Amino acid sequence: MTSQTDYEEIGLKVGLEVHQQLDTSAKLFCQCKPELFKEEPEITFLRRLRPTQSELGQIDPAAYFEFQKGVKILYEADRQTACLVEMDEEPPHPLNMEAVETALSVALMMNATPVDEIHVMRKTVIDGSNTTGFQRTCIIALNGTIKVGEKTVPIQHVSLEEDAARKTGEEGTTIRYRIDRLGIPLIEVATAPVINTPKEAGEVALAIGKILRATGKVKRGLGTIRQDLNISIKGGALTEIKGVQELELIPLVVEYEVQRQLNLIKISQELAEAGAKLENLKEEFFDVTEVFQQTSCKVLRKAIEKGHRILAVKLPNFAGLLKRELMPSIRLGTEMADRARFWGRVGGIFHTDELPAYGITAQEVEALKQAVNAMPNDAVVFVADTTENAKDALKAVLERALEALKGVPEETRAANPDGTTRYMRPRPGAARMYPETDIPPIQLTEEHIKKIRHCLPELPEQRLQRLMREYSLNQKLAQQLMDSEYVELFETIVKESRAPPTTAAAFLTETLKALKRDGTPVEKLSENQIREIFRALGEGEITKEALPEVAAWLSKNEGKTLKEAVESLGLKVMSREDLERLIDHVIGQNKDLIKKSGAKAFGPLMGMVMKEVRGKANAEVVGELIRRKLAEVETERT
Ligand SMILES: [Zn+2]
Repeated sequence: MTSQTDYEEIGLKVGLEVHQQLDTSAKLFCQCKPELFKEEPEITFLRRLRPTQSELGQIDPAAYFEFQKGVKILYEADRQTACLVEMDEEPPHPLNMEAVETALSVALMMNATPVDEIHVMRKTVIDGSNTTGFQRTCIIALNGTIKVGEKTVPIQHVSLEEDAARKTGEEGTTIRYRIDRLGIPLIEVATAPVINTPKEAGEVALAIGKILRATGKVKRGLGTIRQDLNISIKGGALTEIKGVQELELIPLVVEYEVQRQLNLIKISQELAEAGAKLENLKEEFFDVTEVFQQTSCKVLRKAIEKGHRILAVKLPNFAGLLKRELMPSIRLGTEMADRARFWGRVGGIFHTDELPAYGITAQEVEALKQAVNAMPNDAVVFVADTTENAKDALKAVLERALEALKGVPEETRAANPDGTTRYMRPRPGAARMYPETDIPPIQLTEEHIKKIRHCLPELPEQRLQRLMREYSLNQKLAQQLMDSEYVELFETIVKESRAPPTTAAAFLTETLKALKRDGTPVEKLSENQIREIFRALGEGEITKEALPEVAAWLSKNEGKTLKEAVESLGLKVMSREDLERLIDHVIGQNKDLIKKSGAKAFGPLMGMVMKEVRGKANAEVVGELIRRKLAEVETERT
């Protein structure tokens, strides 16, 4: 179905928000290092989640709900990457001007108009990922455009914001977050919803990514760029999808969301045809614990032993629809289960579309249906937990069922690594922003803007041409380099080492990609390690042939040095003496061949020697030595 979908006919509209970490020397509102720490935390502190009130006095329902549930947050920190600002014990310091200037460069490269005054705002955040209960954000420029192929894509705004803390675990009602990431400067670029196909969404994201990288001031690697998508189709609804980390995944995420919305629209039509009515979906929960008194279903038996209750709700006309697939491996029943887990904090739900199964018998299903007065075309959903949690869970299921009658619900979803998505929270309402009173506005003078405009980095197209010219790269290699996140690193390497540019370019694109495809965690390879590898190559300490092996070893052995890699792999370059001795030996053993073939013996000899020294000697040096020795043998004979 996907390839035949007529995106114009279904009215697909996609807007893109790209969030990219900047590579500044300090965080956005303090002097801490904008880095992650991997060791045990030096400091931990516990906070209760509290609903923050917006200026209008509205309390976010999701935040209030979590507050009621007694959710606590355990924050982890270390002194290098966090201070009193991240802990919300001290007001924020002035805005980091290095980050502002990078954002201005990006804005100008996208033809956007800088604001006269930067106002830092607070955006309510409900999940504990910010110690303050809000995220600080500020608009830097408005109304830009970028060219993507033939199309001009409007850029609504370029903003700067602080990255959030990262979740590291969840135990019961306690959620753990590390605040190392909190406060790392993020640039946000938002397009208008003018993207009309999944493929185009990928192209626009790539074009934005290239401009961001052109500044040379952005972090690279997994997790440093995150893209959010706003997707809608005619007759559907706006779905916000958060946190797509891989560029290649974007077209797939859009495609799946289109499928999901089309399937949900179809379900609502079928429900209408079957005569389903909103008023028939009643908040009427049946205690059906008795039905499962003798059950051999382990989950239910354990729950009953714990004193939990089993509560059920009837969904009239829903039989068969809960098992309907919306996108790969995600069914309507999955969406109900997601809601139940979020609002009821239950482990999951059972529903009649998937039964009998899990040790639940056909007789039990029959008894269950009777207990709730279900008709043959009704579905029944049930949950085993405390009465309170089970009720909350079923309320959420019922709400999702009501939405299914209408079609597609407006919601915020999170991207899964396979391109599918899962429920995250309801779409936040308006009035979530209010001014950050701790930071005075910053005026942007025309002079300041002029200065930045004067030293804007090259645009990606100009750079492509220069790479080809300056380093004699062919177009394909130069283009691959531009599309990768390594173009900056490439130029650094070529400037500081004697490594051949083509070798460096091929390594940073093709070799790393191939290694990644084979499952090597190349993202663990640091920029410094890659530079070290090429310095060694340029100095003749390792060979070109050894590069993939060395890179793979270092990726898999975090924290080790190049020297250790070379030793462990036995790839230390042979001394010239050793190499000459080996070649003499091979020549000595092949006297007959040389006598017969003369200079033509070069090929076979080269093959024999290279087989012995692969990765430990440079092929050019080997060739040169063999040629010289062959010539010597020739002169001896004449
Ligand atoms: Zn700090």
